[in-house]
Amino acid sequence: MKLDAPTLVTVTVFVMVVMGALYLLSWSQARQTRALGFLGAAQIVGAAAVTLFGLRDVIPDWLSIGLANAVMLGAFGLIWGGARSFEGRRVPFPWIAAGPIVWLAACLVPPFYASLGARVILSSAVAGLACALAARTLWHHRGERLPSRAPAAILLASEALLIWARIPATLVLPAPPTGTPDQTFWVAALSFVALLYTVAVSVLFMAMAKERLEAEQRRVAETDPLTGIANRRALADAARRLRAAGPTALLLFDLDHFKRVNDTYGHAVGDAVLIGFCAAARQVLPDGAAFGRLGGEEFACLLPGASVAEAAATAETVRLAVATMRPDLVPGLAVTVSIGVARSTGKMGAGDFDTLLGLADRALYQAKAQGRDRVVLAGPDLRQVA
Ligand code: GH3
Ligand code: MG
Ligand code: MG
Repeated sequence: MKLDAPTLVTVTVFVMVVMGALYLLSWSQARQTRALGFLGAAQIVGAAAVTLFGLRDVIPDWLSIGLANAVMLGAFGLIWGGARSFEGRRVPFPWIAAGPIVWLAACLVPPFYASLGARVILSSAVAGLACALAARTLWHHRGERLPSRAPAAILLASEALLIWARIPATLVLPAPPTGTPDQTFWVAALSFVALLYTVAVSVLFMAMAKERLEAEQRRVAETDPLTGIANRRALADAARRLRAAGPTALLLFDLDHFKRVNDTYGHAVGDAVLIGFCAAARQVLPDGAAFGRLGGEEFACLLPGASVAEAAATAETVRLAVATMRPDLVPGLAVTVSIGVARSTGKMGAGDFDTLLGLADRALYQAKAQGRDRVVLAGPDLRQVA
């Protein structure tokens, strides 16, 4: 198969414009993902640059060299801006504009403009820098785990290296004479490689945006909105994950006379007490504990691998922490909690979380019946430990 320069340029421009338009469209539908807008703009601007490059010898040189490179550097700058925007960082428009401006200023210096080597060095240095900065931005924020982040950062870094490789290549290899079929082919081939990179980078950015949205939806679906801790669904999932780990203990908490708190001080104070309870419990619960809100003023905690004695001791620590808690809104308000403790003897089976909850609930009922503010262990003989 033989690909001639005009075909390569036409395909490149067509694909870039279509992809750019699609990205601008998805940005217009999800304005908060501004990165898609930047990448869409980068592709349209990039397509304009490739068009100008491709019209070499058809249009004046100041357009196909001077302006084309400035536009191309603008496109690379927009990719960097897209990466910054994706990470919620300020988009440095003056720096993005600096690339094309420096280029245009240099073109006004005749010896620079006349030297192909100098032009390749400057444009490659700036374009490579934009890619490297975009890669660095993505890498810097790798704390937010997204499957497509590393591939995107690696791709951008390799693009930077490839672009920078043109600098030593220009210094070593003789340039093909301007206007020859060889030179036109190289311009087209480079544009085509840039297209492949642009398409791959854009697809990865779209994937990252989707992955971030999914992670956020997952987080919302698993979090209790008032207290910010795991909800019942997330707790059941944790139980399923811990199932293979072996025996697991479950603490079931129910705040005492909570209705009274609401009735006496109002719902807002009730909410603050729930938040305060979570903070107090979390401070004393061990690292591996899975703590969540089942609903209302009922909470539960899974303690993987804990013995009955360890679970009882942890429950007692939480009970004391709550008893000494003084809510900011009503410092005189005494809050207490009753706790039921149950433990699975072997590895948990499919319905064991509910079974364990049922056992702990019986123990909790006993704790309430015996006067509240205490810990009761489930078992054949329900046993109060404190
Ligand atoms: P006991 O000691 O027997 O547990 O008594 P209690 O008053 O705590 O129990 P009850 O189940 O009768 O009351 C629970 C109350 O919790 C009733 C409900 O209004 C309140 N509640 C449930 N969810 C929330 C919430 O999100 N915020 C607030 N402020 N109150 C809530
Ligand atoms: Mg209750
Ligand atoms: Mg209660």
